[in-house]
Order: sequence, then C-alpha cells, then structure tokens
Amino acid sequence: MSKKIIGIDLGGTTIKFAILTSEGEIQQKWSVVTDITDKGSHIVPSIVESINEHLERYQLSPSDFIGIGMGSPGTVNRKEGTVVGAYNLNWTMIQPVKQLIEEGTGIAFAIDNDANVAALGERWRGAGENEEDVVFVTLGTGVGGGIIAGGRLIHGVAGAAGELGHITVNPEGYDCTCGKKGCLETVASATGVVRLARDFSEEYAGDSNLKTIIDDGQLITAKDVFDLAKENDELAVKVVDKVSYYLGLACGSVANVLNPSTIVIGGGVSHAGEFLIDQIKAYFDKFTYPTIRETTKIRLAQLGNNAGVIGASSLIKEHINGTL
Ligand code: ZN
Repeated sequence: MSKKIIGIDLGGTTIKFAILTSEGEIQQKWSVVTDITDKGSHIVPSIVESINEHLERYQLSPSDFIGIGMGSPGTVNRKEGTVVGAYNLNWTMIQPVKQLIEEGTGIAFAIDNDANVAALGERWRGAGENEEDVVFVTLGTGVGGGIIAGGRLIHGVAGAAGELGHITVNPEGYDCTCGKKGCLETVASATGVVRLARDFSEEYAGDSNLKTIIDDGQLITAKDVFDLAKENDELAVKVVDKVSYYLGLACGSVANVLNPSTIVIGGGVSHAGEFLIDQIKAYFDKFTYPTIRETTKIRLAQLGNNAGVIGASSLIKEHINGTL
C-alpha cells in the first residue's frame, strides 16, 4: 500500500483535515472548530488530538504516512515551522507548530501560508492542470495569492512574495490595512466590492435597485452586487466593471512579468463565476502584450474549500523530495 498524506487547512473558524493518497485524492475528510480562546493556545494540541483520534479510528499508524502538510494564516517561518502574527487565531506570540505536531503525532510536518498552500492545490489538482507556471489569486475577505514559477513556489527574501492583494492599482485610492493606498485588496475583496458600490452609489443619479437598497440603509454584500449586475442593474454593472478593470490590470501586470500558463481566480468573490472571469479577461487583454495575451489563461478555481488540504498534502510531498 502506498503511503498516505495528511493535509490541514487551519482557518479562523474551522480546522479542516484530510487523509489523501500520494496523488492528492481525498480519502477521508473532517473538521473541528478552531478554539481561539487563551491566545489560541488550544489550537495545536487540538490538531494533535484530532489526528491521533482519527488514526486510531482508521487503524492507521504514523508509518503509513509520508507526512503532514499544513496551510496557516499569519507569518510562517517554513524552516523553523513556526507561525506568528495570525490575528484571527489570536496568535501574537511565536507558535512552535512543527515541533509540537511532530512530537505529538510522530509524523513529519511541513507548513506554509494558507494562500501559498491553496495555490499549490489549484496548481496540482485544480485549474492549474499541474503546469510549472501558475499564479493563484484568492478574492475573499482580503485578497491573497501564490506564485508557482518553474515548478516552485516563490517565497521572496522575507517570505512575502505572492501578496497580490497589495499590488497598487490606484495610487490615489483607498487606504489599505497594510499602510499604503490603492491596493487591489481595497477594491477587489468582498469588502472592497461593497465599498466601491457605496461610493459609486453616492454619485449615481439614475435608476438602480442597488442604489435603492443602499439608500434604504440595508447592508449589501459583494454577492448582491454581482447578482444585481447579472440582472443588468446599471449601478451594479458599473461597479463590477470597475472591479474587473482593477483585477484585469493587476493580473495583466503579473502576467507581463511571469507569463504563467494560468492565473487561477478563487475565493468567495469568484463565485460570481464566468460572468466575472469574462470581464476580467476583457481588461486583461488590454493590459497585456500579444505573447502574454495568447498564452496566459485566466480561469476559475476548481477545488473550492478543498484547495487548502490538497495543497497542504503537495507541500509535504515536495518538502520531502526537496523541491520546495
Ligand atoms: Zn495593501
């Protein structure tokens, strides 16, 4: 029997686990609620406990596994296997995650940040079709990303590479949580889409359901904006056009530099589907030069919530092969 892998996707609300084959096929899946009380000190012990419990349940032993891979929020030190500054986990102090999990389970462990891990997943088993050059952008509460070039994840000198959310798309734009202005995240995250909708609404004088809802004081979501745009609500159409312009600009700039085979768009906002992708493509074509336009595709992510655990499993594989 070929060895298996455990993939973990650590998030602020749940911790997702999967047991996968060495080819990235999910065999078992489960999750536990993330307990962020007491400065998140229960998180790692609960991961160890949950793994050991499931190994017993499936009558598996540590020697049945190649290893454990995990994607985590915050700043990850891949070598030391530590995480710091994961505020949605209440982790403000350095957490020796690798040490505790290896000691607690007896299985080898590798870790990277969650966006990089999701990028590996989409590259391996999703829209990236296991190509050597794939860029992943995730449009969620924030905007994250991961870059695989020449078959390797790009980390940069301080591990901050692939932060596509902080590409400046408007130097005069909104303040970003990172301290600068006009980052992609301020206009293409779920909250960014809503922010654009509210601002556009103030200047808009025409007929629009979206404007009526906003003026009425009701809360709107990015999904509402896309749904109304699909129904041709004039204001919503304008907002989605602007979001697509910014995404086309950012993706175009990345593609002009890296010429990936695919830029994969994932995260909650991408549930707007091909409707959004088609509009991004139109701007992407405007902002890329011919060779790029003809060879770099923009595609929707395919793995959804499974991207994290699948990518985490490829992380430990490559870690052990020494290719990362
Ligand atoms: Zn920023």
